[in-house]
Amino acid sequence: MKKVKYILNPTFLSKLIFALAIVLTFVAISVVVVHRSGNVVADVAPNECKTVVVVASGDTLGKILTANGVSAGDVNTIANVLKKDAGISTLRANNDKIEFVRSDETSPVSKIVVIPSPWKQVELTCGENGGWNCNTVDVERDTRAVYKSGEIQNGDSFYVAGIRAGIPAGVLVDVYDLLAFEMDFERDIRAGQHFSVLYEENFSNGEKIDNGRVLAVQFEALRGNVKMYRFKKSDGTSGYYDENGNGAIKSLKRTPINNAKVTSSFSTRRKHPVLGFTRAHKGVDFRASTGTPIPAAGAGRVVARGFNRGHGNYVKIRHNGSYETLYAHMSKFAKGVVVGTNVRQGQTIGYVGSTGLSTGPHLHYEVIKNGTHVNPLTVKLPAISNLGDKDKAKFLEYRKNLDSGIETLSKNPKLFIQL
Ligand SMILES: [Zn+2]
Repeated sequence: MKKVKYILNPTFLSKLIFALAIVLTFVAISVVVVHRSGNVVADVAPNECKTVVVVASGDTLGKILTANGVSAGDVNTIANVLKKDAGISTLRANNDKIEFVRSDETSPVSKIVVIPSPWKQVELTCGENGGWNCNTVDVERDTRAVYKSGEIQNGDSFYVAGIRAGIPAGVLVDVYDLLAFEMDFERDIRAGQHFSVLYEENFSNGEKIDNGRVLAVQFEALRGNVKMYRFKKSDGTSGYYDENGNGAIKSLKRTPINNAKVTSSFSTRRKHPVLGFTRAHKGVDFRASTGTPIPAAGAGRVVARGFNRGHGNYVKIRHNGSYETLYAHMSKFAKGVVVGTNVRQGQTIGYVGSTGLSTGPHLHYEVIKNGTHVNPLTVKLPAISNLGDKDKAKFLEYRKNLDSGIETLSKNPKLFIQL
């Protein structure tokens, strides 16, 4: 992409070197680096001639090979070798590509490269004896960390501001998922708040293929600056940690459904919209349309699934010795979610509806701590995992380096960190 390009004037070059120095730290400390398992950029002979065909609807291997001058006998051999050695027996239209290589324009095809994905190539080379050899290579994944920052403007949702800042929608979804442990997107959003994201972009042969993981996120929330960093521990597992190395992923999410508006908050007294009299509202209501999947706020075990007059269809999950969550007014339950089912964090347990005492489709969400209802949006939640002393020291060093890298990128948004 044009955006991520070095500008090689001396000032930028020194910054570039700086950014690359961070890379080494990445390698040494965090091993965020993607494995390089093979290089497909072969030496190109001076007159070598390459033709690339994108498989179209109705194309067959035979049709494409024949059209590119491969003899009928070779077509058969190649089809057999492809099936036997690479497991490829059909081509997918508008996805697979086939590259034909000749030593010069008039020579017969000496190499055929079948490209079923940006990360895989199957090379078929014609041997001395006229046979075809098949070799599958993994394409080197070129991963770059890019930085985007933005500011909430009047009337913005975080999503609107994030898109304006150039953060891809898919990355924003991941950022939501992370921040939902710490923020209430309805109440915590104010004009003037700044946010930033460092995330991966994956390139194959110089072409951007997709976005990768969120490496760092920062949001000026009302209760303070929320920062999270992805970090790989010495046991090989990765997680997100705050700037002090405490686990950023909490045992429960405050807002199970991302980006859902809070329509009624937790209170010990409120006038019930249906019953008309004042009584406590022991949960938080999130507006969402009927059928919206309801993810489990945390991992746990379903301890109740049923119907009552107030809650309508509801599910209750026990997360650990102290926490339970309850989800009400569901239109239906998720398949396979019954009393006794173990669910993971984020797993769909049911769908938004308006069953029970409800004036319209919404999720009523309760958090029960040691038997008492608490406000999901403000209760202090335990982290899933914290770092051991050794990993913590490594993390703090890594974070320091990453922060200075982010500082560089924030001044030069065209730079990126090569991972
Ligand atoms: Zn409610």
